[in-house]
Amino acid sequence: MSDSTELLLAGGRVLDETGERTSDVRVVDGMIAEIGVGLSASAGATVLDAEGCLITPGLVDLQVHFREPGREDAETIESGSRAAALGGCTAVVCMPNTEPPLDDAAVVQSVIERARGVGLCDVRPAGCITKGRAGSELAPLGELYDLGVRVFTDDGDCVADAAVMRHAFEYATALPGAVLAQHAEDPALVRGGHMHEGAWSARLGVPGRPAEAESTIVARDLALAQRTGGRYHVLHLSCAQSAALVRAAKAQGVRVTAECTPQHLVLTDETCAGFDPVFKMNPPLREQADVDALRAALIDGTIDAIATDHAPHTAETKDVPFEEAPPGMLGVETALAVVLTTLVEPGVLTLAQAIAALSWQPARVAGLDGEGHGGPVAVGRPAHLCVIDPAQRWVVDGTRLASRSRNTPWEGWKLTGKVRHTIYAGSPTVRDGEPTR
Ligand SMILES: [Zn+2]
Repeated sequence: MSDSTELLLAGGRVLDETGERTSDVRVVDGMIAEIGVGLSASAGATVLDAEGCLITPGLVDLQVHFREPGREDAETIESGSRAAALGGCTAVVCMPNTEPPLDDAAVVQSVIERARGVGLCDVRPAGCITKGRAGSELAPLGELYDLGVRVFTDDGDCVADAAVMRHAFEYATALPGAVLAQHAEDPALVRGGHMHEGAWSARLGVPGRPAEAESTIVARDLALAQRTGGRYHVLHLSCAQSAALVRAAKAQGVRVTAECTPQHLVLTDETCAGFDPVFKMNPPLREQADVDALRAALIDGTIDAIATDHAPHTAETKDVPFEEAPPGMLGVETALAVVLTTLVEPGVLTLAQAIAALSWQPARVAGLDGEGHGGPVAVGRPAHLCVIDPAQRWVVDGTRLASRSRNTPWEGWKLTGKVRHTIYAGSPTVRDGEPTR
């Protein structure tokens, strides 16, 4: 009798950065041990049916808000991780705008330990750029880096002071693999605004947040990244102007990456016409021309990743008049299915492009590729895998999501494609569409 644990994914098609092929995958003691057609299971092995399914590297979400510590009524590391696993994720980067914020080694350490205890996926805390996310004094980036933090951001707020941002870039260049991720919205330009500034905001009489609030910060930060040689990542890039700036900067060799959300790739500001606060987020949902530009930027590699900005809010805080509601929407559990249904099915993205933007490209942005995330699906690699049934149809029902909150913008949407199994470090966190713990 051996003490090793074996898992066999039987009858699927492997899709990773190296291509697509019909294959079974054998996992032994957390590692991929064998890949081939018609593998037979050893006695005692767990066999998971992958017939008709794609076996991909686990998905990686660069931007989630798990609200712990501070707002455990809206989400916890456990409930958020469960939602992430159901969405196919084996790793997520959680944002530091908690209460208290993740600007201190002890708080970051407690989040790391909490996530390890839950064990549903690899939860990587992002650290604050500035103390208290107040935008003036740098957080102890080096101390946080020593705990494994690679993504630094004041997300929820923009680092508005250019000198502070420059100083952060100078500091971060001494930390290999570190990246400054910006919530790019100039606070002076968005002050008092609740939705995208455009024809709909004018018609609805709601003060707007102009696209230039984002693009001017992106332009400034790209200049600072170029000057300092620092790495820069644009969180939830939302408008055509920003995409054009990132495209040009990449062509010049600036060390920049960018992500956009499924909602910015699919929905427009027209959704705000009913004053439903579920469609309120920062940066706001924009116009069709921006949606088209984001899709083009994803296709040509300007945008590296699709990240959700999963932002749970309790009904008590979110179901209030539009102008009083906090920004943000759920996303981590539905992202893959939304992308498959709205972008892959109509032929906007190939399946390989979609999985690249949901898995190995974000893994690289956060430095998680060096820790076995994002594939390739190869012998000797850690078994962080997602098994997707591309044909399964389902309807989004907020009451059935794993999140503690219900603010999904996809309520009632008919989606095609669902996660059947998620394998994290060799063990199933989702099996036949259900969380294992
Ligand atoms: Zn943000």
